[in-house]
Amino acid sequence: MSKSIDTICVQGGYKPGNGEPRQVPIIQSTTFTYDSSEFMGKLFDLEASGYFYTRVQNPTNDNVAAKICALEGGSAAMLTSSGQAASFYAVFNIASCGDHIVASSELYGGTYNLFAVTMKRMGIEFTFLPLSCSDDELEAAFKPNTKAVFGETLANPVLSVFDIERWAKAAHAHGVPLIVDNTFPTPVNCRPIEWGADIVTHSTTKYMDGHGAAVGGCIVDSGRFDWLAYADKFPGLTEPDESYRGVVYAEKFGLGGAYITKATVQLMRDLGSIQAPQNAFLLNLGLESLHVRMQQHCANGQAAAEFLQAHSKIVEVKYPGLPNDPYFELGKKYLPNGSCGVVSFRVSGGRTGAETFMSALRLGQIATHVADARTCVLHPANATHRQMNDEELAACGIAPDMIRLSCGIEGTADLLADLEQALAAV
Ligand SMILES: *Cc1c(COP(=O)(O)O)cnc(C)c1O
Repeated sequence: MSKSIDTICVQGGYKPGNGEPRQVPIIQSTTFTYDSSEFMGKLFDLEASGYFYTRVQNPTNDNVAAKICALEGGSAAMLTSSGQAASFYAVFNIASCGDHIVASSELYGGTYNLFAVTMKRMGIEFTFLPLSCSDDELEAAFKPNTKAVFGETLANPVLSVFDIERWAKAAHAHGVPLIVDNTFPTPVNCRPIEWGADIVTHSTTKYMDGHGAAVGGCIVDSGRFDWLAYADKFPGLTEPDESYRGVVYAEKFGLGGAYITKATVQLMRDLGSIQAPQNAFLLNLGLESLHVRMQQHCANGQAAAEFLQAHSKIVEVKYPGLPNDPYFELGKKYLPNGSCGVVSFRVSGGRTGAETFMSALRLGQIATHVADARTCVLHPANATHRQMNDEELAACGIAPDMIRLSCGIEGTADLLADLEQALAAV
């Protein structure tokens, strides 16, 4: 019987046996021992399954990844050391030098820089398109060497809603998977695989951890993309890997296991961005209350957005829960139970007004963080998107005086009172 999201948040993943610990154990061990070196050989040939070295896999991480996999409705999942590592692995697992990716331009600043600068240097070319692009523009972005499409369910910080069905249709028409970063809504508010996404990534640092305690990431595969049907596009999954005695991932591990197995045994082995088991344990504690916290984050986000929109010192508010927001309709479709606790807005008085407002907040703290139990606030043009010029900022939908308010789970009246007194200072 399939369980509700609420129950999976609390009890998904780890299943203790008779007499075993109730809480997921932290396996604080770099290595694992076996009785024979013959068996070890089988592990190294991927002929047997088991743990051998924590740079590649660790049981604590796998228990927590299994919970996120169930939350997203995927076939396999892996944790990574950060959301950045998840985005990088998700793309690099199926694209290499000489390949091309179609991406939404409305992305987290770190992802944009990873794609536009660092991965470009590795020979992977990205075409960025605004969500407002026409069908013809989207169609024209694809090239014979395109290997994937990438978007963010709810973009950080501009809060535009990605039309997953539309972009999935375009990706599939060109024989490539759609990768969706689902960090902001979390599977509590949106499950991209149900709308056609093939691979889902997360910065677990945000709502999933939820307490500002541990940086982490996750990749979930739907198991639905048929790599073998487009074998010549994805040789890494459909041709022999000589580093494992000629294993062909798509054949040996099936559609449900090929992508995550390859990312684990090749990318984790070679690049080693494993999440510390301690952090995975903290992440799991966060997941246990994710469904309850998201409700309060959304209630506070909605209340703050409505309050700000009605205030005379506010120029513009972006929040898909506002009926006059350009993404209200798409929000109703993809995020019917609420979007997240983040509200983006512009205060009158330009950059100075933004600075004055932010310093005057008491409950809300200035922090390079978002999606935390405690309210925090950030000036993207000055922080996360600092590496962009005004033109690039505009392409991402970010005004130089835009503020990103991340509503925590404090009392709603206290939060609104804090906004009110800070606006009085502007
Ligand atoms: C923060 C964030 C990332 C990067 O995650 P880290 O855990 O900080 O590496 C990626 N995508 C989105 C949407 C984010 O908000």
